[in-house]
Amino acid sequence: MAKPVILALDDEPAVLNAVERDLRQKYGRDYRILKADNSAAALDALKQLQERGELAALFLVDQRMPQITGTQFLDQARVIFPDAKKVLLTAYADTEAAIASINRIGLDYYLMKPWDPPSEHLYPVLDDLLEEWKANSKLPYEGIRVAGTLWSPQSHTVKDFLARHLISYQWLDVDKDEQARALVDAHGQGGMKLPVVLFPDGTILVEPSLHDLAKQVGMQTRAEAKLYDIVIVGAGPAGLSAAVYAGSEGQSVVVLERGVPGGQAGNSPKIENYLGFPTGISGMDLARRALTQAKRFGAEILEATEAKSVHAEGKYHIVTLADGTEIVGKTMLMASGATFRRLGVPGIDELTGAGVYYGAAFTEATYYRDQPVFVIGGANSAGQGAMFLSRFASQVTMLIRRDSQWSSKYLRDAEEANPKIERRFNTEIIEIHG
Ligand SMILES: Cc1cc2nc3c(=O)[nH]c(=O)nc-3n(C[C@H](O)[C@H](O)[C@H](O)COP(=O)(O)OP(=O)(O)OC[C@H]3O[C@@H](n4cnc5c(N)ncnc54)[C@H](O)[C@@H]3O)c2cc1C
Repeated sequence: MAKPVILALDDEPAVLNAVERDLRQKYGRDYRILKADNSAAALDALKQLQERGELAALFLVDQRMPQITGTQFLDQARVIFPDAKKVLLTAYADTEAAIASINRIGLDYYLMKPWDPPSEHLYPVLDDLLEEWKANSKLPYEGIRVAGTLWSPQSHTVKDFLARHLISYQWLDVDKDEQARALVDAHGQGGMKLPVVLFPDGTILVEPSLHDLAKQVGMQTRAEAKLYDIVIVGAGPAGLSAAVYAGSEGQSVVVLERGVPGGQAGNSPKIENYLGFPTGISGMDLARRALTQAKRFGAEILEATEAKSVHAEGKYHIVTLADGTEIVGKTMLMASGATFRRLGVPGIDELTGAGVYYGAAFTEATYYRDQPVFVIGGANSAGQGAMFLSRFASQVTMLIRRDSQWSSKYLRDAEEANPKIERRFNTEIIEIHG
């Protein structure tokens, strides 16, 4: 696949060359850096990229140019590549125009000239924007294929793990796809073992554990040291915040996470009450940012790695993992949070992961497009789930035990205003079958 493009546009050759040099130095490995000294040439280049099916990730554009302003250029460029990040290079006198274009054309950032040193003024901004672009853009499919059925809980677990790590994969439904069935027949004992996961390097994993999957996709699953200042169990918001603060104080930190970083919060389609995100943020996005921040401060995050037992020896705390490995910490922080309370009714265990899901089931929501969905519960998680699912389902019915709801007002208001959501009170589940 061709590398995505970062386009620099400036009419002053000296500035353009300096921008290009700085961009190439930091991003040249992963992105193709294009430069143009006039808007017509830049728009031509973008149209050619579009025709070749290539992607533009970011535009870095001077505001003051002779033919059209940077803002006017970005207005035209976003028609060709709506997802590309838009950054204006401005002088002090242009800041008014830059601020006005934040809303008008969805400007992502304006940078004041000069930006030296780039490591302080340019790269942190672009790193953040490019990370966001990567997370949200639909990069062409590159490789991992998961063959399974919608009704196999282990297929759900694997898809959920990949999706929550923003790892793209192609889903091959054995019930609908000849090619998928052939793969499963060949490798998955005729469908007895699902899913079959195929990697671009030829590796095939059959009904893999999350630990094996994490290893195969290159995540860290082994600690680099034997002794740490702090061992943290759990990479939910609490564990990750602790890792950020401890790491930033120069402590050596390892975080053990048995599932996916983000914890419960990772299930939230939209967190609206977290400080600093006035328009809300998805739990997955929050987790991704927190993870990057913790790693930046040197914390090691061991994914799909469960702490099986802990004990103390003198002033040291020792965690034992499933494979018997021991990790020692001078301090240990248990941030293991909470898990969903399981609904104890007949039939539910057999169908969990196969039509019945805990959390908002990001991974599965699209498969229930135009179909009715039930959400059991009436509090905040249920409300967020119902709102999210209503984007896909034909109808979402919330089944609520009480005669009223105990949830945030903003969610109750949103549910009430959503024509696809029905709330059925005084309703208790006694059995599930399917
Ligand atoms: C659907 C949903 C929506 C929510 N929305 C909001 C919201 O909008 N606003 C809000 O304020 N709160 C919200 N919450 C609540 C919020 O997510 C939790 O309060 C928060 O996640 C708690 O953080 P934590 O780190 O303490 O624990 P958790 O998030 O529970 O994280 C604990 C982590 O520890 C890991 N772990 C546990 N045991 C082990 C072990 N033995 N070894 C290794 N790892 C282990 C778990 O896998 C997990 O990742 C929501 C919760 C849910 C479920």
